[in-house]
Amino acid sequence: MALPLARTVVKDLAAEHGACLRPVQLRRTDIDTGHVEQVLIPCGHTLTSVCPSCAERARILRAAQCREGWHLDHEPVIDPDPATEDQRATVTNRAEAQADRDALASEGLDTGELDQRIGELDQQITDTGLRGHVLPAQPRRHRSTRRRQDAAPLPRRPVSARTVGKTYTAPDGKTFRPSLFVTLTCPSYGRVGEDGAPADPDTYDYTRAARDALHFAALFDRFIQNLRRYVGYDLQYFAAIEPQRRLAPHVHLAIRGTISRAELREVIAATYHQVWWPTADATYDGDRLPVWDEHTSTFLDPDTGEVLPTWDQALDVIGDQDEPRHVGRFGARFDAQGLLAGSRDASRCIGYLTKYLTKHLGDCHQAATDAQADHAVRLADALQYEPCSPTCANWLRYGIQPRNAQPGLRPGACKGKAHRREYLGYAGRRVLVSRKWSGKTLADHRADRRTWLTGMLGISATDPRRYTWEPVKPSDPDHMPNRQRLLHVVADRIQWQTALAEARRQAEGSGDHLPADGRAA
Ligand SMILES: [Zn+2]
Ligand SMILES: [Zn+2]
Repeated sequence: MALPLARTVVKDLAAEHGACLRPVQLRRTDIDTGHVEQVLIPCGHTLTSVCPSCAERARILRAAQCREGWHLDHEPVIDPDPATEDQRATVTNRAEAQADRDALASEGLDTGELDQRIGELDQQITDTGLRGHVLPAQPRRHRSTRRRQDAAPLPRRPVSARTVGKTYTAPDGKTFRPSLFVTLTCPSYGRVGEDGAPADPDTYDYTRAARDALHFAALFDRFIQNLRRYVGYDLQYFAAIEPQRRLAPHVHLAIRGTISRAELREVIAATYHQVWWPTADATYDGDRLPVWDEHTSTFLDPDTGEVLPTWDQALDVIGDQDEPRHVGRFGARFDAQGLLAGSRDASRCIGYLTKYLTKHLGDCHQAATDAQADHAVRLADALQYEPCSPTCANWLRYGIQPRNAQPGLRPGACKGKAHRREYLGYAGRRVLVSRKWSGKTLADHRADRRTWLTGMLGISATDPRRYTWEPVKPSDPDHMPNRQRLLHVVADRIQWQTALAEARRQAEGSGDHLPADGRAA
């Protein structure tokens, strides 16, 4: 039993050499010669628990993206490519379908068929590679935009297109352009100890903690909007969402340009997000749950047989005098640190920003004590029954049919990610980057690194038009089982690492400057 398992050693070797542990097999055919080759490509997963090598590469890529945009001293140029013939034709079809549909609607005729066609065309538009939609998704419900009395008003300045921060000149004539590292937290739900566990779990506000986590992304959006109006320019950020020890989300932001602490405090205090969802009390619990009626495709009260209000009906009864279901705010405590491009502090902050990206929120802090474990369970319990979205099955507890209600929905058993232990109530994206951060997409940054690597190794890039690619299925005769694929990637990896080390050695001799990390591609 003391002898190591051969297959474990292969896996360890693969991880050690930064090779993907779950390579995907593709069959590549040269269109001109008909030559067929097996190509193994990395799985690209971002979680260490699934593939440590791919997750680490993804993290390094995010760090590069963060670094490139943070201290830009010129406006990033974003010139979208001109639309292709195909894209223009699809949008033209979409325009005609809309005109026909609206003509029918104005005469009170059935638009069902054209609505379906419009849905298909919208999908085609996305498939051709266009960004965004020709029409906004759904008409928003009108809500009072009156400011809350308990939040201070903010001065609103017109937002100019500028994205680059101010330059300052020191007495000695040197100019510098400081940037900012900010951390925003959720408010207090009750006193917690060093380990993040509440001093008094019975009074800790788990409901509020759950709701703040569920709506954290929307609150963050609101904060950025307010901040841009306040500073008067198109402020850019790279933000990462992480859990604190008390398991509440917080957000680290790299901000281009600088803002004073006093100004930040003012914007944080004035920022809130109101959730205009029904505020009914939970009335259906235990075994007494709404029942599905097949004939009407609706949920009914189990005792009276009355049809429960639909999601839209429940929203309609929310009046101007009602309070929102939840008001999200940041805590008054925040952190802000000014930084200069290329400084040691800036690198350290990029480390913070990307540190936990390869883990699920719920896996960043492992419970070591009973109190911490108990805290995690209580938060998970609160999240299990809190509605996560308009389609959440938990609305049935409140006697409301969720949007798109269907049979089989049961409170406490919603499939939404936010309810799962590993998400801690936050199911949104972990990295939020503003559009004009580096002026590049993640794919552009990846291509940069590949260009560097192929240049370094003196390999010419392959012409993508020369090949056709197909996935290899397990039933195909040339399919390689995962263990065999692993052997291949280990061999490949060692071969090109040797080549890269050699290229580096030669470049060092010639005095070329090289980036420090070798895990480029
Ligand atoms: Zn992988
Ligand atoms: Zn849900």
